[in-house]
Amino acid sequence: MHDEVKSAALNPYHMAVQQFEAAADKINLSEDMREILRQPKRELTVNFPVRLDNGRVKTFTGYRVQHNVNRGPAKGGIRYGPDVTLDEVKALAMWMTWKCAVVSIPFGGAKGGVICDPKQMSPSELERLTRRYATEISIVIGPHSDIPAPDVNTNAQVMGWIMDTYSMHEGYSIPAVVTGKPLSIGGSEGRNDATATGVLFVTRQAAKRIGMPLQGARVSIQGYGNAGSIAARLFHNEGCKVVAVSDTRGGIYNESGLDPATVLRFKQERGSVVNYPHAQNIGVQDVLEVPCDILIPAATEGVITPRNAGRVQASIIAEAANGPTTPEADEILFKKGALVIPDILANAGGVTVSYFEWVQDLQSFFWGVEEITKKLEMIMNRAFAAVVDKADQFSCDMRLAANMLAISRVAEATQVRGIYP
Ligand code: NAD
Repeated sequence: MHDEVKSAALNPYHMAVQQFEAAADKINLSEDMREILRQPKRELTVNFPVRLDNGRVKTFTGYRVQHNVNRGPAKGGIRYGPDVTLDEVKALAMWMTWKCAVVSIPFGGAKGGVICDPKQMSPSELERLTRRYATEISIVIGPHSDIPAPDVNTNAQVMGWIMDTYSMHEGYSIPAVVTGKPLSIGGSEGRNDATATGVLFVTRQAAKRIGMPLQGARVSIQGYGNAGSIAARLFHNEGCKVVAVSDTRGGIYNESGLDPATVLRFKQERGSVVNYPHAQNIGVQDVLEVPCDILIPAATEGVITPRNAGRVQASIIAEAANGPTTPEADEILFKKGALVIPDILANAGGVTVSYFEWVQDLQSFFWGVEEITKKLEMIMNRAFAAVVDKADQFSCDMRLAANMLAISRVAEATQVRGIYP
């Protein structure tokens, strides 16, 4: 096994457009409709100054992209990271449009990002950066226009700062402007676990479909943040054996299974899962290739490529991350008979509970966690069944089927609204 770094040549937006065109071909989408849906509706780039703790000023660049709003307000996370690019944010915004459509929630797609290295910044620098970025993008976000949420390197606290900044400008509290907020300011029960819970619900259905018992199934997870570490806990509680996990610094492997809670404590104390005492260290990419039944990429895009897809051993790949598999790798996995639950379906639990949070904020009436989990399970199972039906009907993989379903729904909304003026 060996380390591979993310291919510099890989452009997530090209990947997203390639997936779009494949599905558009299959549903005979008109050239006019492709012309509308192929590109984001709006791309905002902001350069803004932030005062650092050492007294100096640094200018940061951020983005907010809205892909499509024909089915409802734009919805999508905000990520922080040194490698964030506009093309990455454009791809993620397009995937959000399809994701909201595949689970039939009334949102369009958006995404945001700021080029920064949050690990090198103090909490007060991050707060100043967040509040200024929120101010810069406040010309396009709002509870009825575009509602951000957490993504890589952002969390409930960051959402709280965005909500507060936006509310300060308006003069009164507007909790519905972001989701994934702390409970104390209008967040929803179940939102923190929602992405991983959704991954578990669809994996249960996939396992049933291929006759794999989840009890004792070996699980490998790339990424140990919100999506990955919570998936580890939930799959462990389900009776699975979590044999490998990783983060940016490397991975760990124990064929007898890891204890997700102890690994999380270790990571919180040491900053990484690497050197966890009851496991063997492995490379960042090795986690994708270890012997396992279920693989959960939960880190970043473009990690399963033609270079390593042939070595993936899992029978089910549940994409908690957005865009982890390239189109060429998809073909290899499909030919091998691996079942890929595509990102826009597998990780839609996050945006679904974000939708519940937004509805609760708008009506100022909050639900209990049981009700939220029950509604989430119903939506995830319904979407899984619809995608599987489509895949069976067209003898294709689930990604193509999910994209066909989603793009048809967005195209229908676009068609019926017509072109203004
Ligand atoms: P996070 O910042 O909480 O965690 C990311 C984790 O991935 C960290 O452990 C980090 O060390 C690791 N990581 C980053 N790059 C890596 C690499 N190249 N190799 C190995 N590990 C790497 O982020 P998150 O919210 O858990 O998001 C993870 C993925 O899930 C992203 O693709 C995101 O878009 C997707 N997602 C998240 C949500 C959500 O609600 N948070 C919803 C849907 C999809």
